[in-house]
Amino acid sequence: MSRPHRIIVVGGGLAGPLLACLLADRRCEVTILERRGDPRADGYEGGRSINLALSARGIEALARIGLDEAVLKTVVPMAGRMMHDPQGRTTFSPYSVIPGQTINSVSRGMLNCLLLDAAEERSSVNIRFGIECTSIDVDHAAVTFRTQDGTEHTLEGDLVVGADGAGSMVRAAMDTRERTDEGTEFIDSGYKELTIPAGPDGSFRLRSDALHIWPRGHYMMIALPNEDGSFTCTCFWPHEGPESFAAVRTPEEITSFFDVHFPDAAELMPDLVEEYQQNPVGPLGTVHCRRYHHRDTAVLIGDAAHAIVPFFGQGMNASFQDCLRLADCLDGYPTVHEALVAYDAAQRPDGDAIGQLSLRNFIEMRNHTASPAFRLLQRFRKRLNRMFPRWYAPLYNMVSFTTIPYTRVIAIDRRRRWSMIALSTLAVLTLGLLVI
Ligand SMILES: Cc1cc2nc3c(=O)[nH]c(=O)nc-3n(C[C@H](O)[C@H](O)[C@H](O)COP(=O)(O)OP(=O)(O)OC[C@H]3O[C@@H](n4cnc5c(N)ncnc54)[C@H](O)[C@@H]3O)c2cc1C
Repeated sequence: MSRPHRIIVVGGGLAGPLLACLLADRRCEVTILERRGDPRADGYEGGRSINLALSARGIEALARIGLDEAVLKTVVPMAGRMMHDPQGRTTFSPYSVIPGQTINSVSRGMLNCLLLDAAEERSSVNIRFGIECTSIDVDHAAVTFRTQDGTEHTLEGDLVVGADGAGSMVRAAMDTRERTDEGTEFIDSGYKELTIPAGPDGSFRLRSDALHIWPRGHYMMIALPNEDGSFTCTCFWPHEGPESFAAVRTPEEITSFFDVHFPDAAELMPDLVEEYQQNPVGPLGTVHCRRYHHRDTAVLIGDAAHAIVPFFGQGMNASFQDCLRLADCLDGYPTVHEALVAYDAAQRPDGDAIGQLSLRNFIEMRNHTASPAFRLLQRFRKRLNRMFPRWYAPLYNMVSFTTIPYTRVIAIDRRRRWSMIALSTLAVLTLGLLVI
């Protein structure tokens, strides 16, 4: 069992406070340094309602800090995808044949606040808000930061954890000491969030137990339900080109684009033009990094290690799984160095795997969910799953409803594809022989 005593966690977003809880439960002294103000006092993201899909991996990690029940009370379960075609017709496709297997729409702000509360309840966790980390000495686990009055200070620990998101300063500091080949591969699409407000009586104006998708080839929109009856919509569109953020700017362009391509959603968005013009376009990319740790003094978790495109709804879930694996490695190895090496060896291939799967799912959601052939294939997969639940679970279900490492999910899926090809070939040959 290895215990770095004083741990500095840079970043109090989603993964940072969860890891802090796990480490405090192992009698470590943890300081979280967070750039933003305290969302419990200041509100979150300007009060905008942003939600995330929480699934098995995330729930497992929340359970380990005793927060699963409190979080699950606030979620809206989503049992399947609801596809909206350009004429406004809808088709529902359940995620699973097993009752109760749902993904869950959770408010990012609410989850962040619950995690910060849980961390603060542990007496050995100290959270400092409004702290901008300005430089990190990863060799000596020392973090220099600026407080809101502009003064600079340095804090020394035994281990620095980079939980500081996709643009991680800890990752960049590690790269200056030994090559991590860190970098971000951006895709040519970005995202913008919009709202479908609740009905006058707080009711949902679309089916509430579904993740809604408007797939349109190279661009799409999705919507996830919120507890208050509203939906947060996210447009995933190219930055440039004929159907893109660059091509849709003026009130007339916005109105006519939505009326043509997303007519059933447009009629539920009274503030469409204002929100569209006001809300920013965020970038989307995959972070690559060849090392998740530096000696026994620095380690990366969450988006700092492996930010991914959000099309499998796994970024946060994978980040939470990092926290569990890191805590388990610290329990399981005699030195911190061995624990970090083991964590790196387990999580880095998994980070790469979910990065690949998420890019693949982008193409699937955008291009294929609308196609009848794809839906037929989905039905066939579900039938197989129903007939042989122990032998066959679709890839999506292994990712979302199990905690099997992502690398094994890919390997299982690949093996099964080959067996299916072999079985179909055998069936065709047998049939051929019988006919002859
Ligand atoms: C559009 C979109 C939709 C998504 N949907 C899903 C989904 O449905 N399901 C899912 O599982 N995931 C989803 N994700 C991914 C998810 O948001 C991330 O994986 C998750 O937030 C990662 O958590 P984190 O703690 O590693 O990073 P973050 O949540 O980004 O937290 C990093 C924190 O570090 C702080 N910080 C950064 N630099 C410094 C510094 N120098 N000093 C001090 N503090 C600093 C930041 O202020 C921030 O609070 C989505 C992402 C996007 C963009």
